[in-house]
Amino acid sequence: MHDEPELQVREEKQHTRAVNTREVTFTCTVCEQTVTQHRFPGPVPQYCSN
Ligand SMILES: [Zn+2]
Repeated sequence: MHDEPELQVREEKQHTRAVNTREVTFTCTVCEQTVTQHRFPGPVPQYCSN
C-alpha cells in the first residue's frame, strides 16, 4: 500500500511571448472584399490594412 502523489502539470501559456497569430478571414468594410490575414487573436478586424 503506497500513495502516489498526483502531479498536476500546469501549462503556463501566458508566459510565452511567441507571436501567436492566426489566420482570420473577414470582410473589409472598405474594399468589401473577403480577405484572409494573419492577425492577433481578438476582435475581428474590419479593414484589410492598418
Ligand atoms: Zn480593404
